Amino acid sequence: MPYKQAAEQRQELPSRSIPRRRRPEFVPAGRVHAIDADTREVACGINAAGLYVFNRDWTSGIGMDRCPACVEATGYGRPPDA
Ligand SMILES: [Zn+2]
Repeated sequence: MPYKQAAEQRQELPSRSIPRRRRPEFVPAGRVHAIDADTREVACGINAAGLYVFNRDWTSGIGMDRCPACVEATGYGRPPDA
């Protein structure tokens, strides 16, 4: 299930290296939802419009403010059923 991260806000990374034709880089900020990479459906059911979708795996990254409903819907963070 290819869930990506969809954040309500984004934050520009300060470019600290040589400033030459470097495109701005953004990181997720605010609450982060899980979005299905194929169907563009958000796991908790909110509208994907207005969310910033990142090409990052939903389960990657630490200290993120993950949407509890998306966590519930994707099962991420819960012990496996097995
Ligand atoms: Zn959500």
